[in-house]
Amino acid sequence: SVKQAFERKLKEYGLDTVVSVVETGCMGACSLGPLAIVYPDGVYYQKLTPKAAEKIVEEHILKGRIVPEFLFEGAKEKLTVKAKPVQEEIPFFARQVKIALRNVGVVDPMSIEEYIARDGYFALHKALTTMTPEDVIKEIKDSGLRGRGGAGFPTGLKWELARQQKSDIKYMICNADEGDPGAFMDRSVLEGDPHSIVEAMTIAGYAIGAQKGFVYVRAEYPLAIERLGRAIETAHEYGFLGENILGTNFSFDIEIRIGAGAFVCGEETALMHSIEGKRGQPRVKPPFPVQKGLWGKPSVINNVETLSLVPPIILKGASWFRQYGTEKSPGTKVFALAGKIKNTGLVEVPMGITLRELLYEIGGGHPQGKQIKAVQTGGPSGGVIPSEFFDTPVDYESLGKLGAIMGSGGMIVLDEDDCMVDVAKFFLEFTVDESCGKCTPCREGTKVMYDLLDKITKGEGTMEDIEKLERLAQVIKDSSLCGLGQTAPNPVLSTLRYYRHEYEAHVKDNI
Ligand code: SF4
Repeated sequence: SVKQAFERKLKEYGLDTVVSVVETGCMGACSLGPLAIVYPDGVYYQKLTPKAAEKIVEEHILKGRIVPEFLFEGAKEKLTVKAKPVQEEIPFFARQVKIALRNVGVVDPMSIEEYIARDGYFALHKALTTMTPEDVIKEIKDSGLRGRGGAGFPTGLKWELARQQKSDIKYMICNADEGDPGAFMDRSVLEGDPHSIVEAMTIAGYAIGAQKGFVYVRAEYPLAIERLGRAIETAHEYGFLGENILGTNFSFDIEIRIGAGAFVCGEETALMHSIEGKRGQPRVKPPFPVQKGLWGKPSVINNVETLSLVPPIILKGASWFRQYGTEKSPGTKVFALAGKIKNTGLVEVPMGITLRELLYEIGGGHPQGKQIKAVQTGGPSGGVIPSEFFDTPVDYESLGKLGAIMGSGGMIVLDEDDCMVDVAKFFLEFTVDESCGKCTPCREGTKVMYDLLDKITKGEGTMEDIEKLERLAQVIKDSSLCGLGQTAPNPVLSTLRYYRHEYEAHVKDNI
C-alpha cells in the first residue's frame, strides 16, 4: 500500500515518467519498516504509511524539502547540521561495511539490468575470460574467505579439494536451508540480490569443474524462491547460464530444490540426501562431500552468504577483501540482530569489530536503557556471551574461546530480565524437535536433557540434576553423529559455564 501510494501521488503530479518507485530487498532496519530511500539525495524514511508516502512526494520530491517526522532514526539530529542526512551519517549504517549485502535494499531483485549496472556478472566475465580455474581458486584462497554458514572452513581449500577429484561429473550446491531461530541473513540475500548467488555459483562451478548446481532452499522462503527462479531464468536469457557461457566452452546450469524445512537438512550430508529424494538424514563423514557427495560425485556445498562474497573478491582481488576483518577471519559478517536491542535487523560488519560496538553503536543498545546481560550467538548450536566479554572481537577464534560460536549469524540480545536457564531450555526444545532421530545420543539424550531442564525451571530439580545435565551434555556432544547433536548441548553448557548460579537458584530449596 505504501508503494501504491507513492505511485498514485507521483502520477497525480505527472512525475511518474521521471521518478521510479523501485521495490528492493530488505534495507536492514527491520524494526523501522516499511522504509524508503529518496534518490539521488539518499534520504531514508522510516515507518511509512500510505499517508506518509503521499507527503514525501508532495514535500520532498516536488519541493525538495525533507519531511522530518518520517526521517530514519538517528538522522533527525543531523538535520540541524546538514539539510539532507544521508546513510553514511546515520549511526546504524555508519559502521557497516556492505559486501555480502552490497545490493540488498538497493537494486530491484527482479531486474538483471540493475544487477549488471552495479558490476553484476563482471566477475564471471573476468573469471571465464582471463583466469584459469586454478587462478580463481588461488584468489579465493588468498582472500582467506571462510564459510559463513557456521563452521568457518576455508572456502578456497574446499574448492581446491573438489577440483583435485577425478570425476566427469561434479556438483556445486548452495545451502540456503537457513533454519536457526532468529536468523535471516541468507533469506535477505536471496530476496534482495539473487543474481549474486547465480553469478557466484557459476564461478564456483567453473573453478571446481562442475556443470550443474543446486540451490537447496526451504519452502518457508517463497519470495526467495520466486526471485531466485526469476534470476536463473534471466541469467539464461543473457547468456550467463546454460551452454557456452559468454561464448566460452564452459557450460553450467542451476536448479532450485525446495526443502520441507527440517533444520537437520542444513547439515550437508542430510541436505544431499534430501536433494537425491531420500529422507534428509545425515551420514558418517568421511567420505566428505568433496570426495563423495551428491549421487556419489564430488560436490562443494557453500552457504548463501559465503557465495555472495565471491564475485567482489574475484572482481576486486584478495587483498582488497583482506583490508577488512582480521588476519584469520578476513572480510565481513552479516548478523541478524534480534531480542532486547533497539535496532533489530540485519547488519554487515567487518570481522574484528567488538560486540560492544556492534550492540551499542550499531544496535543502539537496549530499547528501554536497561542492562544488556548477554548475547546468544549461533542459535541452537551456539552459546551465550556475558556482558563482561563485550570487548571481545567478533571473529571465529575469539567467539570459540568463549564457548560460543560465530554460527551463521543469528545474534539474540538478552537483558537483566531474561533467565538463562529458560534461554537454554528454549534452544534445547528446538533441537529436541528437530533431531532427525537417527542416532541415540541426540534422539534420546536431548530429550532427557530437556526433561531435566523442565524440572529445574519448575523448581522441582536438585543439585544432582544440574550435575546430571552437565554430564549428559558432554556425552551427547562427544557421541552424536552429526553437527546438530554435537552442538545441541552448547546453549546449556555455556549458560552453565557463566550462569551456574541461576541454575542453582532454581533448585536451592530442594537441596
Ligand atoms: Fe540425527 Fe541428531 Fe544424530 Fe544428527 S545427531 S544424525 S540430527 S539424531
